[in-house]
Amino acid sequence: MSHSQGQHFLQIPGPSPVPERVMRAMDRQVIDHRGPTFQKLGQDVLAGCQLVFKTKQPVIIFPSSGTGAWEAAIVNTLSPGDKVLMCETGHFATLWQQMAKRFGLEVEFLPGDWRRGADAAAIEAKLAEDKTHSFKAVMVVHNETSTGATSRIGAIRKAIDNAKHPALFLVDTISSLGSVDFRHDEWGVDVTVSCSQKGLMLPPGLGFNAISEKARAAAKTNKMPRSYWDWEEMLKPNASGFFPYTPATTLLYGLQEALAMLQEEGLDQVFRRHHRLAAATRAAVRAWGLEVLCVEPSEYSPVLTAALMPEGHDADRFRKITLETCNLSLGTGLAKLAGKVFRIGHLGDCNEVVLLGALAGIERGLSAAGVPHKPGGVTAAIADLAGRNDVEATLAAE
Ligand code: PLP
Repeated sequence: MSHSQGQHFLQIPGPSPVPERVMRAMDRQVIDHRGPTFQKLGQDVLAGCQLVFKTKQPVIIFPSSGTGAWEAAIVNTLSPGDKVLMCETGHFATLWQQMAKRFGLEVEFLPGDWRRGADAAAIEAKLAEDKTHSFKAVMVVHNETSTGATSRIGAIRKAIDNAKHPALFLVDTISSLGSVDFRHDEWGVDVTVSCSQKGLMLPPGLGFNAISEKARAAAKTNKMPRSYWDWEEMLKPNASGFFPYTPATTLLYGLQEALAMLQEEGLDQVFRRHHRLAAATRAAVRAWGLEVLCVEPSEYSPVLTAALMPEGHDADRFRKITLETCNLSLGTGLAKLAGKVFRIGHLGDCNEVVLLGALAGIERGLSAAGVPHKPGGVTAAIADLAGRNDVEATLAAE
């Protein structure tokens, strides 16, 4: 059966669909990246990024994927042999930990069950024990894209402060920025790592580091060799809107448009929309009789929902059948979750009808794949959305 008719539903947790407006904004000739038109674009996007990261400090934009931005955070702030504290929230935290080891860092990896966010109390206890301040950094993934659990970054900041520990705080917001509230300055984050293809609604290709004064000071004395990723090399030309090498001009045009869209909707409204869509998705998953992987309600991800398959049923077979039947792409289970979960992305340029279409596709796919489930997930999601809209309307009227 062909599955190329009609709209493709890209409901993976990133890359997320690129809005028409952003595509049109990128559909332009490249320009002289040393000229005055580029300078205006550079100044505009560098300033616009500060609003989304909620920082008055510089935001650095690399032509890279999120993994490159991870590397930039490490090589600018840490030295081989430094001890760092990380939390096993899932696959992406595990990969960042592997990268840290490759750079010669000594990682203490707090174990986790891949069903909740990072444990602020465990971080506080580890830091409180560390009287000699041997930990140079705490490194956490904000939204663990492999599991659908969002760590409480504000609570982790408090944990570091309670332990009176001077460690740098490095946070991966690769799948949360622009979808979940994040406050670089207020939460005392030293390096915020992010990328373009999720909440920012762009194609893959831009990596970000938002940095603090403390991180910049650490970069002046740390011993890790670096060249391409060096912040100071970037900050000098950035001060006047330029880049030290050829920037990804076309993606920067897209970024300018995406930032405008986020400002027009208003970040708080964007975050509320993500919460609403996530809650409706969980209502659908439960109505089908499936289990949501994340077990901590205060850590349910507004970005994606991972659903556990019934025992003996392969999630990837179901995903394949859903793609063939409904032209709908769902996220695969990663690493130890392979075959056990499927992930529903509800981030970025998503609205109620797109989500309900995707949920209808899932319900259809579950039937087509012979996965035991109860019907009614879509109905439950509609009821959930209607209930939430009523609450919001009441609040707005008060
Ligand atoms: N960190 C998180 C939380 C992610 O979700 C991803 C990718 O999905 C990455 C890191 C890696 O980013 P990239 O694939 O852009 O290198």
